[in-house]
Amino acid sequence: MADSYAIIGDGIAGSSAAETIREQAPDADITVLTDEGEALYNRILIKEFAKGKLPEAPISIHDTDWYADRDIGLHLNTLVTDIRTDDHEIETHSGEVFEYDSLLLAIGGTPQQLPVENADADGVHHFWTFEDARAIKQSAEQADTGVVVGAGLLGIDLAAICGAQDVEAKYLMRGDAWWRYALSEEGAEIMHDALRERGVTPVFDSGVDHFETDAEGAVTAAVDPDGVQYDTDFAGVAIGLDFNTEIVQDTPIETDRGIVVDEYMQTNRDDVYAAGDITQFHDVILGKRAQNGAWGSAKEQGTIAAKNMVGSEDAEFKWVSSYSITHFDFPFLSFGHPTRGNDTVEQKYTDDEWRRLALEDGKIVGGVLIGDLAPQTAYKQLMREGRVVSDQKEALMNREFSVDDLAPVQKQWIVSGVLPWNLGCTDPTGGTRQLSWSEFTIACRRDWLGQLSSDANSEFGSQWVGSQNGVLTSSEWATDPSRTWGRRRAEAVLRTPSK
Ligand SMILES: Cc1cc2nc3c(=O)[nH]c(=O)nc-3n(C[C@H](O)[C@H](O)[C@H](O)COP(=O)(O)OP(=O)(O)OC[C@H]3O[C@@H](n4cnc5c(N)ncnc54)[C@H](O)[C@@H]3O)c2cc1C
Repeated sequence: MADSYAIIGDGIAGSSAAETIREQAPDADITVLTDEGEALYNRILIKEFAKGKLPEAPISIHDTDWYADRDIGLHLNTLVTDIRTDDHEIETHSGEVFEYDSLLLAIGGTPQQLPVENADADGVHHFWTFEDARAIKQSAEQADTGVVVGAGLLGIDLAAICGAQDVEAKYLMRGDAWWRYALSEEGAEIMHDALRERGVTPVFDSGVDHFETDAEGAVTAAVDPDGVQYDTDFAGVAIGLDFNTEIVQDTPIETDRGIVVDEYMQTNRDDVYAAGDITQFHDVILGKRAQNGAWGSAKEQGTIAAKNMVGSEDAEFKWVSSYSITHFDFPFLSFGHPTRGNDTVEQKYTDDEWRRLALEDGKIVGGVLIGDLAPQTAYKQLMREGRVVSDQKEALMNREFSVDDLAPVQKQWIVSGVLPWNLGCTDPTGGTRQLSWSEFTIACRRDWLGQLSSDANSEFGSQWVGSQNGVLTSSEWATDPSRTWGRRRAEAVLRTPSK
């Protein structure tokens, strides 16, 4: 067990890690460093503050006493500028040096600016911190007209803030629908109508070519690429995050639009872990690398990282993430990875009840539910089980869907192990094969397939994986480039075809 732990970032990932380390290592030195001027607050709720619906107080989660009571050294307004992994040291903007035995990077992302003229004008806002929310609230309260850019989950928060603050806003979207990678036009239209009801007008196939400003440098208009001018005294931009990887660029820590970790939140350095939005983690449900941007997932990753840093257990991150929108009269939830996949199924039930599932290799990888969130439990269960369901789309769209609506799996083996795993010499069912192979649908995680295609006997690969129910074809075989180091878990599901 390490004696000293340094955590960079006091968001939900960093703070949960500090709490877990203290619970499991009562005598350890724990240091938390954050460049923000306040301790952990609820980032999810800052939009309600900006809408004018919530005061400041309930948004704060921890005050500084919380850290002092637990003997956790909290350093606010402290930007870490350098990490020296060989020396086990980190350095801050003021030149202060902290030593660590074990380091956690919980450093999240920073909103991207539009690469256009006057993108940093007064009145043009980005949204990540409580400080941002205070500025947005003040600006929106004084504005009559607004422009919002970014057709995703944070953009719609800015649009809802305009609606709540009686700002007549235009919501400029690049395509023909809000969050078009996760919703079809039919589903998105429910969101468009809800925005219109709040005085926010969606404008499609649009964007910002540049902002106009007055003599004081305050925004006065957004001009789209066709030269259409939208007069505005408030602009909200949410076009994505730049992940805060600069401090690890000169270290051996592997990055790839984030910090690469395995399912234990460990980087390619034994004594460095990462958690939260910043991670490109090995998703054991997908069997490949993924990134989440959600509160619950960041909290769980912080906890998992802490357990592994302390070494109290080999804790694995296995999680279906959720993200809800509560601005409208109907509930909205996205779960898993709704923008991934190579297949979809969707249905509209009423004017404000709609659902869509994203599938990959026959399995659910994510989805969006509008109006009725009850089926989420069943869909998430299927995701966690890695069950192949693409042949039962009609049942999946049952309005009151439950797992029992699916034809029972007649027989199933979960085969798992840690690579390298010589499948060519082992019966992967772990027992005698009483059914003929052709009775099986086989679904394999891709990292296993990579191993299979290179190591295992070709009869198994081409005959059993290649053609069964169209679930996987040999052309989809690929070595997963994310799994080049560390503990590599392989898993496969063998089952009889569902009826
Ligand atoms: C307005 C808004 C609404 C949201 N709504 C939802 C929602 O409804 N549901 C949901 O699930 N998720 C929501 N999210 C996303 C969710 O809040 C994030 O996924 C989660 O907070 C990420 O936590 P984190 O700890 O990984 O990162 P962060 O909370 O970003 O924390 C990282 C911290 O590290 C600090 N830091 C970075 N670099 C350094 C450095 N070099 N030195 C010192 N400190 C550093 C940063 O300043 C920051 O404080 C929302 C986010 C926002 C902004």
